[in-house]
Amino acid sequence: MTLHHMKHHNTYVTNLNAALASYPDLRAMNITAIVANLGMVPDAIRTMVRNNGGGHLNHSIFWATMGPGGGGAPTGTFVAAGAGVFGSGWVWLVLNGAKGLQIVTMPNQDSPYMMGLTPIVGNDVWEHAYYLKHRNVRANYLNSWWNMVNWESVALRYTTAIK
Ligand code: MN
Repeated sequence: MTLHHMKHHNTYVTNLNAALASYPDLRAMNITAIVANLGMVPDAIRTMVRNNGGGHLNHSIFWATMGPGGGGAPTGTFVAAGAGVFGSGWVWLVLNGAKGLQIVTMPNQDSPYMMGLTPIVGNDVWEHAYYLKHRNVRANYLNSWWNMVNWESVALRYTTAIK
């Protein structure tokens, strides 16, 4: 997790800042607003912002919904969806407006906000998230990851999203 945070997440932030260096209007915006409205980002930097802005936002949510003393044992659909992601991506519990809670997967560093969905809790299933400890067995990572989830943080995100 330390390597994941200090190297991988850091790279997304560094690359996002580089992409936005010449765009003070975008630099002044909240990252969620940028990611949710990629159509307003200039063509020249849109892919960089999608990948690195999405990466920054996804990881920011990820860290905020984990912590010591977490835990609990939700299983089933979320784990199966995460295990089924082909290649690199994320599995999310999202709020889809009046349709309520749904489990979705997103490729690469795409954010649920890009689809008009509000992420509640998500797990990173890029190999960099689990390979050092769990090698190629993504399902072991997905199952043990629940031991780190901070449910108070997740509940707060949900109660904020439904307002
Ligand atoms: Mn990651």
